[in-house]
Amino acid sequence: MNKNIKEKIRRPEGFAQLGDCILRQQALRVSDVNTSHIKQIIKTMKTMLSTSKGVGVAAPQLFESLRIVIVASRPSERYPLAPKMDPVVMINPSFKVLSQSKKKDWEGCLSIPGIRALVPRYENIQIDYADEQGNIQELIAENFVARIFQHEYDHLNGLVYLDRVENNNDIIAESEFQKLMRNYNGLS
Ligand SMILES: [Zn+2]
Repeated sequence: MNKNIKEKIRRPEGFAQLGDCILRQQALRVSDVNTSHIKQIIKTMKTMLSTSKGVGVAAPQLFESLRIVIVASRPSERYPLAPKMDPVVMINPSFKVLSQSKKKDWEGCLSIPGIRALVPRYENIQIDYADEQGNIQELIAENFVARIFQHEYDHLNGLVYLDRVENNNDIIAESEFQKLMRNYNGLS
């Protein structure tokens, strides 16, 4: 059988959905960024991100249990208040907490459609990662960008944002979230 056909059969379409065991696994470190396999995964992640209105993605969501995330904050229907930034590919990322303060804000997940929840996250962090060329980089992130990173980083450790929700009352339907956003923007 042709390798491409085999690959298509093995990989389901779209984002892994909550309940798929790949979302509960510890993802493996990338040992060599310069392989065609890793380049292909990153390319797929970028494509999926730009077509999904997401602000971040982790490789396990695309059925690859590897430590790769993309953080790509931009305003969209899903996140009307997100700041704009160029997408950053982060391989084998880690982070340090720069101040202990945490803030609750709304999150959603392409692997858990239809709901949103308030999630406490650190507001100021320093991220260390390898870029697509394998160079070590450092990024100081705050507020929403720090939040996206911590959400995606959790995916590398088999966690989803619902695991960090403090109270079931903090979980709402996507339609209710959209109403909240319209009110916030003074549109309704
Ligand atoms: Zn997610």
